Amino acid sequence: MLFALIAGHITKTKEWVACHRKHHAFADREGDPHSPLMERLRNIVLKGAFYYRKAVWQPGVLEKYGNGTPNDWIERHLLAPRNWLGIALMLGIDLWLFGWVVGPAVWGVQLLWIPFWAAGIVNGVGHAFGYRNHAVKDASRNITPFAIWLGGEELHNNHHADPKSATFSHRWFEVDIDRMYIQLLSALGLARVEYAREL
Ligand SMILES: [Zn+2]
Ligand SMILES: [Zn+2]
Repeated sequence: MLFALIAGHITKTKEWVACHRKHHAFADREGDPHSPLMERLRNIVLKGAFYYRKAVWQPGVLEKYGNGTPNDWIERHLLAPRNWLGIALMLGIDLWLFGWVVGPAVWGVQLLWIPFWAAGIVNGVGHAFGYRNHAVKDASRNITPFAIWLGGEELHNNHHADPKSATFSHRWFEVDIDRMYIQLLSALGLARVEYAREL
């Protein structure tokens, strides 16, 4: 989620949550906001983040699927009215670190890189290529058992089979970096796990 928020395509938690819940409700059927089976895989991979915008612009989607999401100070004062701030801050940091020539180039790559992996690869390739542990109704797949690059989201078939689990690995050989992050945040008292699937 953070990735999409940072990229500026989706500004509020409610928007991301609504799109994502709708994806689970209609996965790979009519109504799925980003299915490579309904749209072309190439479109989902290259224009992944734009499908989020399109989904939340549809009337009623936010109300129906965004129910119960936070509406705190950060949402109202930072994410909604000043979503450009994070992007501008990143540009400032890149200019400071890399200078006036390389800095803007690094910034540009960051803006494309994050939505490409988070929205394009997970939502596109995660419903097109890989292996399946679970014969769920949708076409979700585990891209690779070694899930450290995309925060565990590579194990997308596992996620669709057990969407409430805070962790993604379901078999002994699956390496899920998200499991480590969750354990670390829990140990620091920064997260509370309601349910995590046991291996
Ligand atoms: Zn999916
Ligand atoms: Zn999900």
